[in-house]
Amino acid sequence: MILRGGRILDPERRIDRIGDIVIHDGHIQAVVWDPKDIVPSPQTRVIDVSGKWVVPAWVDMHVHLREPGEEYKETIATGTAAAVAGGFGAVACMPNTHPVNDCAAVTEFIRRRAQEQGFCRVYPVAAISKGLKGQELSEFGELREAGAVAVSDDGRPVTNAALMRRALEYARAFDLVVISHAEEEALSRGGHMHEGLVSTRLGLQGIPAAAEAAMIARDVLLAELTGGRLHIAHVSTEASVWILREAKRRGVAVTCETAPHYFTLTDECVEGFDTVFKVNPPLRTRRDVEAVKEGLADGTIDAIATDHAPHSVLEKDTEFQDAANGMIGLESALPLVLGLIRDGVGDPLDILAKVTCNPARILGIPMGSLQPGLPAHVTVIDPEAEVVIDPEGFQSKGRNCPFRGWSVRGRVVLTLVDGLVRYPFH
Ligand SMILES: [Zn+2]
Repeated sequence: MILRGGRILDPERRIDRIGDIVIHDGHIQAVVWDPKDIVPSPQTRVIDVSGKWVVPAWVDMHVHLREPGEEYKETIATGTAAAVAGGFGAVACMPNTHPVNDCAAVTEFIRRRAQEQGFCRVYPVAAISKGLKGQELSEFGELREAGAVAVSDDGRPVTNAALMRRALEYARAFDLVVISHAEEEALSRGGHMHEGLVSTRLGLQGIPAAAEAAMIARDVLLAELTGGRLHIAHVSTEASVWILREAKRRGVAVTCETAPHYFTLTDECVEGFDTVFKVNPPLRTRRDVEAVKEGLADGTIDAIATDHAPHSVLEKDTEFQDAANGMIGLESALPLVLGLIRDGVGDPLDILAKVTCNPARILGIPMGSLQPGLPAHVTVIDPEAEVVIDPEGFQSKGRNCPFRGWSVRGRVVLTLVDGLVRYPFH
C-alpha cells in the first residue's frame, strides 16, 4: 500500500513534509519524498491522501474499557472500535474492572480478548494495590510478565503515602511507570463539582483544586525520594501545573497528562445540572483551563489522554448528586486536540507529540512513530473537515459525551494498525 501525497507529520523525528509512505507486510517500508522514487506494482493499493495529514496512529494512555465485568457499558470490542474511529491505534486500559486487574489472569484475559476481538492494540494498566483497596501491593513482576505496561489505582488515589512510596520503589525494579490518580479524599469527599463561585451558586458541595494539587505535591516528593517513575493522570488545575513545572525543573522523573475536557470546558457547564458534565477530577474554572493550555504549550504537560469513561443511562439519568463520574472521549478527542493547533497553543508537531510519541515513550510501548522498519500504525486526518459531533453514531456503547452537537473541524480518514485498515470499517 502507498499513502500518496499527504503531509507527513512525525513528531518523534520532527518531520513535517509532503511525501509518500510505503507499507509492506504490515510495516512501514519507506517514507519517500519524491514520488518518482517509487514504482508501484499492479497489486499495490495506492491511496491518494493529498491535502490530508499522515501521522503516527494516536495513543490514548488512559481509557476505561469496562471489560471484564461491566460489558453493558463498554466491551473491549466496542471500546477499541471507538478508538480506531477516533484515530487511535493503541489504548492503555485502566484496572478498575470487575474483577480488578490486579493479577496475571486478568491481564492475560484482557490481552487475549483484545487479540481476538479488538480493533487496535490494547495495553493493560494493572492495579497498584490488590482490589484497588490501597492496603497491599499487587505482584508487579507477575503483572509485568503478563503484559501490564504500568500500574495505577485509577478511579481512586493511593491514600497511604507509605504504600505509594513502596509502589514507586517496587515499580522501579520492573521499569513500570506508576500512574497517580491524584486526589486528597479528605478534601474531595462528598463533593460533586469544582469548589468555587459556581458550586456556591448551585448549592452543590465542591471539590477544591487543592484536593488534586496537594496529592500531586506528595507524589512528586515521593518520586524524588525513591527515584521511581511517576505519571500524573488527568491534570486539571492551575496549581497542579505549577507544581509539575517546578518538579520537572528540579529533574524529578515525573510526566503528566490532561484530557480534552480540561482544556475545553469549565465548571459553568454544570449550571444546567446535566450529569454529562459530572467527571472526576471536576471541570474547573476558566483560569485553570488557561493554565492547562500553558502547561501544554511549554511542555509541562506531556500527553493528552481521553479518560474515556463510558456509563449507561442507569448511572447518568439521575440526580446530579447521585450520578456517576465520567465522560466518553475516544470519538471526540481528535478535533478538540487539533483545535489547540488552531488556537496557537502549539505547532502541529508539538501538539501531535502529546497523542503519539510522548505517551508511547511514557508507557514504553512500540507506538507513535513513522520510522521505516516499524509496524505500520498510521492515522490519516482531514484537518479541515467540518463535523458536528453526534454521539448517536458512536461505536462506543457510551452516550455520555459532553460535546454533543458541537461543530468542530478535523476528521479521521483512515486508521491503520499493523498495516491493516481498521477504520473505516468494512
Ligand atoms: Zn482517574
